[in-house]
Amino acid sequence: MNAAVWMSGAPSLPSIAANIALGLLTWGLYEYATHRWVLHREPRENGFNLPGNLTHLTHHEHPQSLERLNVQLSESVPVCVVYCLIAWAVTGSWKSMTHLYTGLIAGYFFYEYLDFQAHHGLSRSRFIGYFRKYHLLHHHYDAKVRYGVTSPLFDLIFGTYHLKERTNPQRRTQQRRVVSAR
Ligand SMILES: [Zn+2]
Ligand SMILES: [Zn+2]
Repeated sequence: MNAAVWMSGAPSLPSIAANIALGLLTWGLYEYATHRWVLHREPRENGFNLPGNLTHLTHHEHPQSLERLNVQLSESVPVCVVYCLIAWAVTGSWKSMTHLYTGLIAGYFFYEYLDFQAHHGLSRSRFIGYFRKYHLLHHHYDAKVRYGVTSPLFDLIFGTYHLKERTNPQRRTQQRRVVSAR
Protein backbone atom coordinates (compact mmCIF):
# COMPACT_ATOMS: atom_id res chain seq x y z
CA MET A 1 0.00 0.00 0.00
CA ASN A 2 1.25 3.42 -0.97
CA ALA A 3 2.19 5.58 2.08
CA ALA A 4 0.13 8.58 0.89
CA VAL A 5 -3.00 6.43 0.64
CA TRP A 6 -2.34 4.93 4.08
CA MET A 7 -1.72 8.38 5.60
CA SER A 8 -4.95 9.79 4.13
CA GLY A 9 -6.90 7.52 6.47
CA ALA A 10 -4.71 8.36 9.46
CA PRO A 11 -6.33 10.12 12.41
CA SER A 12 -5.12 13.63 13.21
CA LEU A 13 -2.77 14.26 16.11
CA PRO A 14 -5.47 16.04 18.18
CA SER A 15 -7.80 13.06 17.75
CA ILE A 16 -5.02 10.63 18.76
CA ALA A 17 -4.26 12.78 21.84
CA ALA A 18 -7.97 13.02 22.72
CA ASN A 19 -8.39 9.23 22.49
CA ILE A 20 -5.30 8.58 24.62
CA ALA A 21 -6.57 11.12 27.21
CA LEU A 22 -9.98 9.42 27.17
CA GLY A 23 -8.27 6.05 27.66
CA LEU A 24 -6.41 7.45 30.68
CA LEU A 25 -9.67 8.84 32.05
CA THR A 26 -11.44 5.51 31.64
CA TRP A 27 -8.53 3.86 33.47
CA GLY A 28 -9.03 6.30 36.36
CA LEU A 29 -12.75 5.51 36.51
CA TYR A 30 -12.16 1.75 36.18
CA GLU A 31 -9.45 1.84 38.87
CA TYR A 32 -11.73 3.75 41.24
CA ALA A 33 -14.88 1.70 40.65
CA THR A 34 -13.12 -1.66 40.85
CA HIS A 35 -11.10 -0.69 43.91
CA ARG A 36 -14.13 0.64 45.77
CA TRP A 37 -16.91 -1.74 44.76
CA VAL A 38 -15.13 -4.98 43.87
CA LEU A 39 -11.78 -5.21 45.66
CA HIS A 40 -13.13 -3.98 49.01
CA ARG A 41 -16.29 -6.09 49.11
CA GLU A 42 -16.85 -7.94 52.34
CA PRO A 43 -15.49 -11.41 51.48
CA ARG A 44 -17.53 -14.58 52.01
CA GLU A 45 -16.00 -17.32 54.09
CA ASN A 46 -17.69 -19.95 51.92
CA GLY A 47 -18.78 -19.26 48.39
CA PHE A 48 -17.96 -17.04 45.48
CA ASN A 49 -15.82 -13.94 45.80
CA LEU A 50 -15.37 -11.54 42.89
CA PRO A 51 -12.01 -11.71 41.06
CA GLY A 52 -9.35 -9.65 42.80
CA ASN A 53 -11.36 -9.30 46.04
CA LEU A 54 -9.27 -11.63 48.21
CA THR A 55 -6.05 -10.75 46.41
CA HIS A 56 -6.52 -7.09 47.24
CA LEU A 57 -7.50 -7.70 50.85
CA THR A 58 -4.39 -9.85 51.17
CA HIS A 59 -2.41 -6.90 49.79
CA HIS A 60 -3.90 -4.75 52.58
CA GLU A 61 -2.97 -7.35 55.20
CA HIS A 62 0.56 -7.77 53.81
CA PRO A 63 1.40 -4.57 51.92
CA GLN A 64 5.10 -5.44 51.86
CA SER A 65 4.55 -8.78 50.15
CA LEU A 66 5.59 -8.71 46.49
CA GLU A 67 3.38 -11.73 45.81
CA ARG A 68 0.11 -9.80 45.92
CA LEU A 69 1.40 -6.50 44.60
CA ASN A 70 0.68 -6.91 40.89
CA VAL A 71 -2.65 -7.63 39.28
CA GLN A 72 -2.66 -11.21 38.04
CA LEU A 73 -2.77 -11.85 34.28
CA SER A 74 -5.86 -14.04 34.70
CA GLU A 75 -7.64 -10.91 35.96
CA SER A 76 -6.11 -8.24 33.71
CA VAL A 77 -6.22 -9.97 30.29
CA PRO A 78 -10.03 -10.46 30.23
CA VAL A 79 -10.52 -6.80 31.20
CA CYS A 80 -8.22 -5.69 28.36
CA VAL A 81 -10.03 -7.86 25.82
CA VAL A 82 -13.48 -6.62 26.90
CA TYR A 83 -12.28 -2.99 26.89
CA CYS A 84 -10.87 -3.32 23.36
CA LEU A 85 -14.05 -4.95 22.07
CA ILE A 86 -16.23 -2.18 23.59
CA ALA A 87 -13.89 0.55 22.28
CA TRP A 88 -13.92 -1.00 18.81
CA ALA A 89 -17.73 -1.41 18.84
CA VAL A 90 -18.30 2.19 19.99
CA THR A 91 -15.79 3.92 17.70
CA GLY A 92 -16.02 1.50 14.75
CA SER A 93 -12.29 2.02 14.23
CA TRP A 94 -9.41 -0.23 15.23
CA LYS A 95 -7.09 2.81 15.18
CA SER A 96 -9.22 4.68 17.71
CA MET A 97 -9.46 1.47 19.72
CA THR A 98 -5.65 1.22 19.76
CA HIS A 99 -5.27 4.82 20.97
CA LEU A 100 -7.92 4.39 23.67
CA TYR A 101 -6.20 1.19 24.78
CA THR A 102 -2.83 2.97 24.84
CA GLY A 103 -4.27 5.46 27.33
CA LEU A 104 -5.84 2.70 29.41
CA ILE A 105 -2.67 0.63 29.58
CA ALA A 106 -0.52 3.71 30.35
CA GLY A 107 -2.82 4.38 33.32
CA TYR A 108 -2.53 0.75 34.38
CA PHE A 109 1.29 0.74 34.25
CA PHE A 110 1.33 4.03 36.17
CA TYR A 111 -0.91 2.36 38.78
CA GLU A 112 1.44 -0.61 39.17
CA TYR A 113 4.45 1.72 39.36
CA LEU A 114 2.83 3.91 42.04
CA ASP A 115 1.71 0.91 44.11
CA PHE A 116 5.29 -0.40 43.99
CA GLN A 117 6.68 3.02 44.90
CA ALA A 118 4.19 3.35 47.78
CA HIS A 119 5.28 0.09 49.42
CA HIS A 120 8.82 -0.55 48.22
CA GLY A 121 10.09 2.41 46.22
CA LEU A 122 12.86 4.75 47.27
CA SER A 123 12.00 7.64 44.98
CA ARG A 124 12.41 11.01 46.68
CA SER A 125 10.54 12.88 43.99
CA ARG A 126 7.80 15.14 45.37
CA PHE A 127 5.54 13.98 42.57
CA ILE A 128 5.88 10.32 43.61
CA GLY A 129 5.80 11.35 47.28
CA TYR A 130 2.34 12.89 46.79
CA PHE A 131 0.91 9.64 45.39
CA ARG A 132 2.77 7.51 47.98
CA LYS A 133 1.24 9.46 50.86
CA TYR A 134 -2.17 9.40 49.17
CA HIS A 135 -2.13 5.60 48.81
CA LEU A 136 -0.67 4.93 52.26
CA LEU A 137 -3.51 6.92 53.84
CA HIS A 138 -5.89 4.48 52.13
CA HIS A 139 -3.87 1.57 53.54
CA HIS A 140 -3.14 2.73 57.05
CA TYR A 141 -5.61 5.45 57.98
CA ASP A 142 -8.98 4.60 56.45
CA ALA A 143 -9.56 2.04 53.69
CA LYS A 144 -12.92 3.66 52.93
CA VAL A 145 -11.33 6.75 51.41
CA ARG A 146 -8.63 7.49 48.83
CA TYR A 147 -9.49 4.68 46.41
CA GLY A 148 -7.77 6.43 43.52
CA VAL A 149 -4.13 5.45 43.07
CA THR A 150 -3.19 7.34 39.91
CA SER A 151 -5.42 10.35 40.51
CA PRO A 152 -7.56 11.96 43.22
CA LEU A 153 -10.14 12.96 40.57
CA PHE A 154 -12.74 10.26 41.19
CA ASP A 155 -12.35 10.44 44.98
CA LEU A 156 -13.25 14.11 44.66
CA ILE A 157 -16.22 13.37 42.39
CA PHE A 158 -17.61 10.49 44.49
CA GLY A 159 -16.96 12.02 47.92
CA THR A 160 -14.20 9.73 49.21
CA TYR A 161 -11.37 12.26 49.25
CA HIS A 162 -11.71 13.70 52.74
CA LEU A 163 -10.27 11.83 55.71
CA LYS A 164 -12.76 11.20 58.47
CA GLU A 165 -11.67 8.65 61.01
CA ARG A 166 -9.57 5.56 61.13
CA THR A 167 -11.23 2.32 60.01
CA ASN A 168 -12.82 0.52 62.93
CA PRO A 169 -10.28 -2.23 63.72
CA GLN A 170 -13.08 -4.61 64.75
CA ARG A 171 -14.63 -4.41 61.31
CA ARG A 172 -11.37 -5.49 59.77
CA THR A 173 -11.12 -8.58 61.95
CA GLN A 174 -13.66 -10.54 59.91
CA GLN A 175 -11.92 -9.64 56.65
CA ARG A 176 -8.61 -10.67 58.18
CA ARG A 177 -10.05 -14.06 59.16
CA VAL A 178 -11.24 -14.79 55.61
CA VAL A 179 -8.07 -13.52 54.00
CA SER A 180 -5.74 -15.48 56.28
CA ALA A 181 -7.78 -18.64 55.64
CA ARG A 182 -6.74 -18.65 51.95
ZN1 LIG B 1 -1.12 -0.75 47.96
ZN1 LIG C 1 -7.57 -0.96 48.83
